[in-house]
Amino acid sequence: MSDKINENNNNNNNDDDEYEKYCYLCRRPESSAGPFISLPGNFHICNTCMQKSFDTINQNPMQFMDFSKMQNINMSQFMPFDDIPKSQKVKKKKEKEKPEKEEVPLTLENIPAPHKIKAMLDEYVIGQEYAKKCISVAVYNHYKRVITNTMDDIEIEKSNMLMLGPTGCGKTYLVKTIAKLLNVPLAITDATSLTEAGYIGDDVESILSKLLAVADNDVEKAEHGIVFIDEIDKIAKKKETRSRDVSGEAVQQGLLKILEGADVEVPVGSGSKNAMTPMTTMNTRNILFICGGAFPEIETIIKQRLNKQSSMGFNAELKDIYDKENNIIKEVSNEDLREFGMIPEFLGRLPVLFTLDALDKDMYIKILKEPKNAILKQYQKLLELDEVLLEFDDSAYEAIADLAMEKNTGARALRAIIEKFMLDIMYEIPRDDNIGKVTITGDYIRGKGSPVIELRGIN
Ligand code: ADP
Repeated sequence: MSDKINENNNNNNNDDDEYEKYCYLCRRPESSAGPFISLPGNFHICNTCMQKSFDTINQNPMQFMDFSKMQNINMSQFMPFDDIPKSQKVKKKKEKEKPEKEEVPLTLENIPAPHKIKAMLDEYVIGQEYAKKCISVAVYNHYKRVITNTMDDIEIEKSNMLMLGPTGCGKTYLVKTIAKLLNVPLAITDATSLTEAGYIGDDVESILSKLLAVADNDVEKAEHGIVFIDEIDKIAKKKETRSRDVSGEAVQQGLLKILEGADVEVPVGSGSKNAMTPMTTMNTRNILFICGGAFPEIETIIKQRLNKQSSMGFNAELKDIYDKENNIIKEVSNEDLREFGMIPEFLGRLPVLFTLDALDKDMYIKILKEPKNAILKQYQKLLELDEVLLEFDDSAYEAIADLAMEKNTGARALRAIIEKFMLDIMYEIPRDDNIGKVTITGDYIRGKGSPVIELRGIN
């Protein structure tokens, strides 16, 4: 009889190994509540609940019983009861496999100098020289400040950034590339979804939740990460509104404290706070915030300001010369951004301000050809695996660039165009083993001809 009981228990124990035990009273899993005391019938109670129960029942006569010192007592050995059905158990989480490459933390010795950061960015991002320079210096200063904490007892200011540039010119791409190069966690969020706490939408803390999730819930790692807030122009103060501006000025106000550096209560594993979500505290002092936006129509504000300045005093005759200038966005100042609807306190917390250029035809062509992971190179590699050489002649590059410029969505349009015409190529080529080389021409892109196909062995 006792042999049978032992056998039963052993079976149960083996089965149980895969499942998390939960405290019968407080429902916390063993991974967070500490070792359990097991009672017959597969009831498990954590030390805290057990101690509380005894304290309540005995009102202190049994102070000598300290349950935190009693671990893993398995009473079911003595009194076997029926098992809990499997449907009510939760499987233990498998431990995540560690990445093969050991992550090297940034130190003063290994943090790359600005010119090296820029050289690395050059491999991926075409043009945008000024932006690359600004971001390299700002990131270098930021991480130097984070690593050393202070320098000569002067606290170095945080280098949060604000970048302006038309859609699809590489704002997000620049930030993504820099985070990858420095191997720091990056959270990308959209300011349009943010609202004041208490209203429908995401609270500003949701940004930090995202960063925490990217950093595998490692608070320390997240506290050295980068946050990119896109579409920041969408939270400009609404003009002429009588109702409360919950998705504009109020969001800017809400962001102030996290931009500067504060201890913030952050929901873990979810964007919203509620009674069931565990919370943790994150300090945002060392998090680098980069905000980006297209700021449409800001050119008008800049021109108005410049024209007003030049129409005063000795320069009066120069009035309206700026109306014809193309790259006027480069002249942007805090004053223009304030006029646009950003509040001064918010701008004050983003001291590094720079602009990105709109892409021109040359840049489009370079984006197609040059970056390390250029999309055409990816297709060439894919076909190389089938031993087929894929080439594009100059007219093809020009045709793709022309089509992309028509769409007015920046470099994002390139992918859509390429995917469309590559579909047929990728479908047809592997079908015929004799094909050795395919040359894409401008006519093919414009739908006026077919690609030039060469067979193997014929040169
Ligand atoms: P946005 O400025 O709207 O944030 P993105 O950075 O998301 O635009 O750009 C979209 C895509 O276009 C990127 O993923 C990248 O592949 C490509 N791209 C844009 N600008 C450049 C650039 N200057 N150099 C190389 N690729 C670029």
